[in-house]
Amino acid sequence: MAKKSSGLTCMMCGAQDCAATPVIQVVSGLTLCTDCIKFIDDARDAQLKERNVKSEKNDKKVGEKIPKPEEIKKYLDQYVIGQDEAKKYLSVAVYNHYKRIARMGKATDDDVEIEKSNIIMVGPTGTGKTLLAKSIARLLDVPFAIVDATVLTEAGYVGEDIESLLTRLLQACDYDVEKAEKGIVFIDEIDKIARKSDNPSITRDVSGEGVQQGLLKLLEGSTVLVPPNGGRKHPDQKMIAVDTKNILFVCGGAFDGIERKIAARMNTHIVGYGHNSASKKEQRENLMRYVMPQDLKSFGLIPEIIGRLPVLTSLEHLDRDALRRILTEPKNAIVRQYEKLFEIDGVKLTFDESALDAIVDKAIEYKLGARGLRSIVETVMVDAMFEIPSSDIKEFVVTDSYVLEKLDKAHFDKTHAV
Ligand code: ADP
Repeated sequence: MAKKSSGLTCMMCGAQDCAATPVIQVVSGLTLCTDCIKFIDDARDAQLKERNVKSEKNDKKVGEKIPKPEEIKKYLDQYVIGQDEAKKYLSVAVYNHYKRIARMGKATDDDVEIEKSNIIMVGPTGTGKTLLAKSIARLLDVPFAIVDATVLTEAGYVGEDIESLLTRLLQACDYDVEKAEKGIVFIDEIDKIARKSDNPSITRDVSGEGVQQGLLKLLEGSTVLVPPNGGRKHPDQKMIAVDTKNILFVCGGAFDGIERKIAARMNTHIVGYGHNSASKKEQRENLMRYVMPQDLKSFGLIPEIIGRLPVLTSLEHLDRDALRRILTEPKNAIVRQYEKLFEIDGVKLTFDESALDAIVDKAIEYKLGARGLRSIVETVMVDAMFEIPSSDIKEFVVTDSYVLEKLDKAHFDKTHAV
């Protein structure tokens, strides 16, 4: 028997109480139907979610609430595979840096001045140096710019003025100078501005030592005039004054051959006769872990620069296991990105285990490292991405034979010959 209506009316939509849409008295004087209650619930959840995001962002405001080193590392773990040592150093350095900024805003009764903790990361190319710096900037919600040290030259020579590396930072935050002054600049290929010999230069070294000298004042913190559009300073161009005191500089470089300097310092030989090349490689990679400031000096960085990059850490070569994990594990892993792309078209895409192994094998075979994983997957998937949207395929499994067939078809071996 149908339940009798209570006679209540929803005060929001006017619906009468019935079996399909019951109306209840929420509190005295307020009657609502279950549909409207659900509507309110959903609206509340959506708003709270949005507010949480916002307050999380506010929390990240420099100097207000700084994530603890362990939290920073956990965040990095979501995006960067391995490199635990570098992550730890970076997390501590960034935490201290922002603590220092927070402290500067407050009156303190002691005169201990915490010094800036710029960072230098040494490690093979494509092992995650840029990715680490980028991820930190995202976490802290601060402006971030990547600049290449190789384009810089000493003032007055062909190339870009050293101050122009702050142009990118200004551009990253719409020329909000205050924001830029708390940003992070990643200087890539810092090893390429090493001076050409260990002895102070006899001839002028405008892209090496000259640039290092120029970088000094930026790294230690001073007010510099930045050309708003980069490039060379121009007499007619209005400059923007930027104080670099609180800008965190993270430098990265492969420092090819630094293992030899490390070995020499440690008094060990990289290879003796009879060692195979695998163990030679292993020895080299292991040595990188022991990098010290004096090795950077032997490599050609001037002591003043080294002194202004007090946090030195190294990144490891990515082995097979790491490459395999990079394909699927990071939050924005390549495989996940493709699955999402197909999902938008209503297609369930899966890479089977054998396909993932084949992709990693190719990256190793062609010495492409992590960077190559993407180009391999792109090559493999281009046909499917072209054809599937206009077909009625709803499920697509990528296998190892599919991977090999597509790479073969694209003449991958010829275009990526080692
Ligand atoms: P570099 O050390 O030369 O700065 P990058 O950080 O630019 O290398 O790495 C290039 C690409 O390779 C990244 O965008 C990322 O897709 C991938 N990659 C490299 N190392 C890692 C890693 N440890 N974890 C996850 N992805 C990585």
